[in-house]
Amino acid sequence: MTILSNDSKTDPNKILPMTYMWAREHYKDGVANNWTPEEISMQKDVEQWKSPDVLSDIEKRMILWNLGFFSTAESLTANNIVLTVYKHVTNPEARQYLLRQAYEEAVHTDTFIYCCDTLGLDPEYIYNMYETIPSIKEKDDYVVGLTKSIMDPNFELRTDEDIKIFLQDVVGYYVIMEGIFFYAGFAMMLALKRQNKMVGIGEQFEYIMRDESIHLAFGCDLINTIKEENKGIWTSDVQKNITDLIIQAVDHEKKYAFDACPNGLLGINPEQFCEYVEYIADRRLERIGLDKVYGTDNPFPWMSQSVDLSKEKNFFETRVTEYQTAGSLDWD
Ligand code: FE
Ligand code: MN
Repeated sequence: MTILSNDSKTDPNKILPMTYMWAREHYKDGVANNWTPEEISMQKDVEQWKSPDVLSDIEKRMILWNLGFFSTAESLTANNIVLTVYKHVTNPEARQYLLRQAYEEAVHTDTFIYCCDTLGLDPEYIYNMYETIPSIKEKDDYVVGLTKSIMDPNFELRTDEDIKIFLQDVVGYYVIMEGIFFYAGFAMMLALKRQNKMVGIGEQFEYIMRDESIHLAFGCDLINTIKEENKGIWTSDVQKNITDLIIQAVDHEKKYAFDACPNGLLGINPEQFCEYVEYIADRRLERIGLDKVYGTDNPFPWMSQSVDLSKEKNFFETRVTEYQTAGSLDWD
């Protein structure tokens, strides 16, 4: 029995006994993080948003850029889980996690509805930003482009080449979209929160980041399991291709960071957001067994504390070596 649909012995209805305990752990961690946006008061945010002298125009623009990016990126991610990943990942405990993740994406979508409603933003403007703002459109187009061939209704997993196409979809959404394209935005919104600005939205971004760190951990475990079970696909060409895709993603994310926050925030410059993107890209590469590219130090150590605050394990910056000793990469 294997995790993907290319194995006819996998019965999606028999969840016990389990093969992939990591999928079960991610499910339980997701449930332990349960939250809804309405639990977080937006009253102070609304006052600050409407006050003429709390937020600068640059800060307001940065908030709008991030709301614009995330409002539609969450739906793109949710659709990919339901329409693509769920179809080909037939192992039942992995599917149980995917159902949980799909629900969390609905909560994230709801968060941006709540932000638009409470701040009185124009939904036409916010929900069109993924088409009208080039630095946002380029990120979304990049991920959608990587995952196009899998959307063919006749696509099925039969050969190693098919599995390579599926792997690129999983890398595109889990590693690049959720693992890289979300993180400059997380850093910007949490940097603002550290200055006591828009703390309600900041807290919602913290909760989302906590969820996303688990989505990313699941995605990396999925990738590593597919590699392990299909040894023929992890060729040097595939490894180079994935590394190149991540390098290009980092370039898109740096461009976005400069566009969303050209002058930085109090005590932070846009170059530091770029360093942070390089730092997290290295962590993602290591998590899927590839060499790091940048060797950049983390300019924002407080970012990992934002996830640790939840008392949950900090998945998203854990190095692969530490991760392996936790037994999560043990398939025997
Ligand atoms: Fe999400
Ligand atoms: Mn997600």
